[in-house]
Amino acid sequence: MMEMDKLVSLCRRRGFLFQSSEIYGGLNGFWDYGPLGVELKRNVREAWWRDMVTGHNDLATLPGAPESFEMTGLDCTIIMHPQVWKCSGHYDLFHDQMVDCRESKRRYRYDQVRGRWVEAKGDRIFVATVAETADEQDDVQRRALKYFNLRAKDAGELAWDGDFHALPQVPDLSRVLGPEATQLGTLTEPREFNLMFKTFVGALGGEESAAFLRPETAQGIFVNFKNVLDSSRVRIPFGIAQIGKSFRNEITPRNFTFRSREFEQMEIEFFCHPGQSNQWYQFWRDRRLAWYTHLGLAGERLRLREHAPAELSHYSTGTADIEYAFPFLPPGDYGELEGIAHRGDFDLRSHMEGKLDPRTCPLELEKDADGKPRWRGSGKDLTYRDDQSGERYIPHVIEPSAGADRATLAFLCEAYSEDEAPDEHGAPQKRVVLKLHPRLAPIKAAVFPLVKKDGMPEIAQDVYLSLKAHFSVFYDEKGAVGRRYRRQDEAGTPFCITVDGQTLADRTVTIRDRDSLRQWRVRVDDCVSELTKLLNPGAARV
Ligand code: ATP
Repeated sequence: MMEMDKLVSLCRRRGFLFQSSEIYGGLNGFWDYGPLGVELKRNVREAWWRDMVTGHNDLATLPGAPESFEMTGLDCTIIMHPQVWKCSGHYDLFHDQMVDCRESKRRYRYDQVRGRWVEAKGDRIFVATVAETADEQDDVQRRALKYFNLRAKDAGELAWDGDFHALPQVPDLSRVLGPEATQLGTLTEPREFNLMFKTFVGALGGEESAAFLRPETAQGIFVNFKNVLDSSRVRIPFGIAQIGKSFRNEITPRNFTFRSREFEQMEIEFFCHPGQSNQWYQFWRDRRLAWYTHLGLAGERLRLREHAPAELSHYSTGTADIEYAFPFLPPGDYGELEGIAHRGDFDLRSHMEGKLDPRTCPLELEKDADGKPRWRGSGKDLTYRDDQSGERYIPHVIEPSAGADRATLAFLCEAYSEDEAPDEHGAPQKRVVLKLHPRLAPIKAAVFPLVKKDGMPEIAQDVYLSLKAHFSVFYDEKGAVGRRYRRQDEAGTPFCITVDGQTLADRTVTIRDRDSLRQWRVRVDDCVSELTKLLNPGAARV
């Protein structure tokens, strides 16, 4: 399996990802996409938007769908009316449990602290850690030795008891050595911490002007449901898509971009008749899984996990996660790429009537101590009237909610490979190659003159300019051609086009395929059509 640090260093070295504000020491949980990364992530977003929205065939019934449907989009603001988050439940409920360390003054997410029991000198303690999986054992061993006042050569005196497990499984925190503590029992009992970033709108700055950065893009869609209905001619069933930044003040951001504090979501709210919602749920679940497969995440690293009935909120008849076995996770663990949830009429009703109590069945408004609604809704009518049947109802919602950064990271992990390729003299050389799907590759083709003389650069530049009108391409004439190939392999460029001695005689160039290393010749004038064919092999869209 690929080691994560190889990918992390490639991402830095070749300009896929940098730590945000790196020259000032970086800011934990924030990442910048570099020159190659920005193109890759844009391609992920564009593939999603094209496959789900602009390229969607609304005239045919897609396989597995009960009928044909329309798709449309929105682009909402990051800061919305604070009442949105009160009615959606995020203001009261969107929190994680955290523990504080009285000694180190650090704060951790309760379920993300792990550790191991160990016994020495007649004492048994739980050594906690937040190190990455690969470094966990080193970290707990080093700290256990220190705690028991033992030297490295006495490591045999440490009797480890059981495997690593998470802190919530430890009933008594007084036996815990915190991740950065030197004494036992410095962690507080878990407390709740709201994940929304708070800000202030306008110059006054008081509580009245407090607002939040959105923790998800979905609510912008719900509050615009009526606007979309009234301004376009969509009829149920239909979906509204949105791509945009979301913010969560994650307590322990980690695992590269997997858990960031600022990230991008790609969300669909699909509105349908309650009687058809289970079928639509299954349709979206399967369709979204197929999307990842189509773009190259396949095999046992990708899986669909249906939530068990006990995990579901009772208004939902189904939720599934699309998960990927990221290399930074312990073997057998998967990380969520996307959640597909059947949300019933919970969200539209909350914005009509006010915050609903998710524990009630049927759903009821949450009341305060005086019996008044805890948070009032908009009072606007968000029901739908079917103009053919005359039926009026609150639509049910299926929500496929994906993360653009997590998808980008999964595509990078899956694409990273090492193999051997012959150099100019035919000798095998180790190479690093990103086998990205051509739709996702930041650069579609690189154009090289074999040498910087004999008119080769001029021809290569002509080829480059003619391709540039259609694709993202790269021109390179510096250094040995073998090195130029290897740089493109590392960037995931699927095709390299080389102008050589034979070009001068017959106006043909070689095209080299990144994965198979096959080379063939095409006429200079056919480069655009050849590349068009190669990049659009007519694969069925999902
Ligand atoms: P997790 O349990 O991993 O925190 P979640 O279940 O809270 O995720 P959702 O609220 O369902 O996530 O958000 C939908 C999608 O948004 C996720 O599947 C993921 O791709 C993305 N996402 C959520 N939180 C983050 C984050 N902190 N960093 C990057 N992407 C995120």
